[in-house]
Amino acid sequence: MRPSRSPICNLRAVFSMNVTTQITIQYSRAKLGEMEECARRAKPYESCALLFGTKFPAPNPSKTSTQVVYSVERVDCIPSSRPSEVSFVIEDYETFLERWKAADALGLKLVGVYHSHPAPAAPSGTDKQNMLWMDESNFKFAVWVIQSMLKHHATNAFIYTQNQFFKVPIQIIE
Ligand SMILES: [Zn+2]
Repeated sequence: MRPSRSPICNLRAVFSMNVTTQITIQYSRAKLGEMEECARRAKPYESCALLFGTKFPAPNPSKTSTQVVYSVERVDCIPSSRPSEVSFVIEDYETFLERWKAADALGLKLVGVYHSHPAPAAPSGTDKQNMLWMDESNFKFAVWVIQSMLKHHATNAFIYTQNQFFKVPIQIIE
């Protein structure tokens, strides 16, 4: 696998300087619609989509914090290797790499992972383990977008980094 390119390296450099990094994930209503369509198709099981896009610094006058925006440009619905109502798993690493390379060819990076929950939009125990795994992999700094399939379809985003879970603000753009 190709080594990480600049946006991730920048982020790492920022962390090492003890500056707080505030990450925001942004996507359009159309992209949210694609995620929801992915969830609908997987029903009654949990769905999953890889979120590819770009990362860029947002203007921020503060010297003690820096703002990075993750912009989702592509929603790639991927079937769970073991369909379940309470978890999803991608064991088909070949497919994962194929999708990753296709996005890379378009200049897009993996910025997040979306999945739906039959429960509230918060990471489950399995999700937390997977987030820990990702933090140690080449897919570090991916944001987890979780959408509840309960009444209001609430969506929340999280990241695990520096041994901590953080909630990430979601910005819906038109
Ligand atoms: Zn989950």
